[in-house]
Amino acid sequence: MKEISRRSFLTSIGAAATGSLAISANQALSQPTNILSEDRRGVLVDTSNCVGCRSCEWACKNAHGIDAGDIESYKDRSVFNNMRRPGIDSYTVVNEFSNEKNPLLPIDVKVQCMHCDKPACVSACIVGAINKHEDGSVVWDTDKCIGCRYCMVACQFQIPVFEFEKAIQPEIRKCDFCYERFKKGKLPACVEICPLEALTYGPRNELIKLARQKIKRNPEKYINYIYGEKEVGGTSWLYLASRDFQSIGLPKLNNKPAPGVSESIQHGIFAYFVPPVALYSWLGAMMWITKRKEEVKQEKEIDYV
Ligand code: SF4
Ligand code: SF4
Ligand code: SF4
Repeated sequence: MKEISRRSFLTSIGAAATGSLAISANQALSQPTNILSEDRRGVLVDTSNCVGCRSCEWACKNAHGIDAGDIESYKDRSVFNNMRRPGIDSYTVVNEFSNEKNPLLPIDVKVQCMHCDKPACVSACIVGAINKHEDGSVVWDTDKCIGCRYCMVACQFQIPVFEFEKAIQPEIRKCDFCYERFKKGKLPACVEICPLEALTYGPRNELIKLARQKIKRNPEKYINYIYGEKEVGGTSWLYLASRDFQSIGLPKLNNKPAPGVSESIQHGIFAYFVPPVALYSWLGAMMWITKRKEEVKQEKEIDYV
């Protein structure tokens, strides 16, 4: 069978899925957030096709109102001298690893939230500020967050970051799978701009089939493993690579869903402090007071205008 190209994949399976999921995006908003669609979306990252152009970093910033600067500046490859992590102003970063087999072809790896099927961050959040949507995305809600940062502790991929520098209403920041673009039927910004077949978007189950086809046809190019298919219960973002994933910066994790870990974190905290109900009440009250103070402050500022 002929290998499916990224473009044909997107126009056939992927586009159909984008359409059907775009329809279900509106439905998802009014439905429980813990029911996953069979057609939930994903991205297959083929690290063997990534050239480290970092256009995805630029596009991601642009799509989220972050100052992205000149795209020409992203040609500076000196950034690869250090390992980088997603941060407050960069929801995705690309790291580069040397390739002993072919020193002229280093291995570039894009990193962002994996949009876990059973996300530890969601499980850890005691006020429901992070939700797993039916379409697969894990999205943070600015209105509910009380800044406890349990999500940061729970995430085994070390993705959520907190705006420590911001005095008023600091936020948790991470890749949101371009949820707002998705609702408009658009591709994630990083996928849209990627000039090569490094990022393939479509239904997660179809991406797994595509990944298997790629491995079968090019056993010399890929190790026989799809990272994210089973890790921590499965993730929406999946990876193919030519060598073991730990050597290119992806953590070795077991297949057990991570929520068990976050539940332990919460239970540990509860055991040492106060019963959960009392803590929830206290945190809820603090959140209300903080928000009310902010509203009063804003009302006063408006009065003076
Ligand atoms: S990678 Fe981390 S932040 Fe993203 S969904 Fe999984 S647990 Fe949550
Ligand atoms: S899916 Fe959207 S938010 Fe996530 S890395 Fe790509 S561009 Fe950024
Ligand atoms: S835009 Fe595509 S090829 Fe360029 S760094 Fe990002 S994933 Fe790699």
